[in-house]
Amino acid sequence: MKTGIGDLRLATERAGAGHASRGEVYLVGAGPGDPELLTLRAFKLMQRADVALYDHLISAEILQLLPAGTERIYVGKERDHHTLPQEAINDLLVRLARAGKRVLRLKGGDPFMFGRGGEEIDSLAAQGIAFEVVPGITAALGVAAYAGIPLTHRDCAQACVFVTGHLKDGSMDLDWTALARPRQTIVVYMGLLGLPILCGRLIDHGLPADTSAAIIQQGTTKTQQVVTGTLRTLPALAASAMLQPPTLIIVGEVVRLRERLNWFDPAAADQPVRREAAPADGER
Ligand code: SAH
Repeated sequence: MKTGIGDLRLATERAGAGHASRGEVYLVGAGPGDPELLTLRAFKLMQRADVALYDHLISAEILQLLPAGTERIYVGKERDHHTLPQEAINDLLVRLARAGKRVLRLKGGDPFMFGRGGEEIDSLAAQGIAFEVVPGITAALGVAAYAGIPLTHRDCAQACVFVTGHLKDGSMDLDWTALARPRQTIVVYMGLLGLPILCGRLIDHGLPADTSAAIIQQGTTKTQQVVTGTLRTLPALAASAMLQPPTLIIVGEVVRLRERLNWFDPAAADQPVRREAAPADGER
């Protein structure tokens, strides 16, 4: 049986040691941006960690919640600009834990949603290092809530799918027939650059060109911006809005509910401005 972090901590606390003699890793989802959307567990582990590894989706306001003495290591990554390759991050987690550190691996949204969190703890599991996973509010849920777009609705969407719109060799490798089903909401992560391809393929595979769609910039933050249109109009509307990453795309009739349900006013949001936007849409 694997040693849980709880067991390890109890054992070391009983032995009177302040720190675990063996390190441990907390893989923590930091939510979509608004620091108020951190979980209580995330906040508690942030106070306990010796060192924090974070990437570009983590806002300055969230980092400010770390105690002053916590060591911070920025590990990237933005599109085409990976500060550390994934293998190096995996190795660093192992090395720090082996050195007896309590390591906080802070990731945007939820660590298991397009976040490679599984790969990071896989190497920990293989090396017998104790770890804990804390779910976070994934961008789809946080952004939809703050944009006033319910992802399902009895009248128009009985299903919702999450996909990555990351371009590979200029195209998107998605099951278009499955995506172009009626009464289904599609949420696309990492889709800004591929937006024209996405909308075009969905129309080619049978979704009406006047299907509602939205793209949301920096959802849940003071710089949130929502552009709504249809599959036909959204690419041009998004291009003229010159959106900054991260952005999320929502396709489906639920988008129209925003006309009535929009509640969040970013300008009035009680939070400081988000860290400067990365130069291009974020990616895994
Ligand atoms: N693990 C993260 C997703 C990482 S992939 C999660 O669960 O949310 C990075 C992508 O997430 C970005 O390209 C963007 O599509 C989306 N994203 C993350 N935060 C966002 C935000 N505040 N607003 C809009 N999209 C966001």
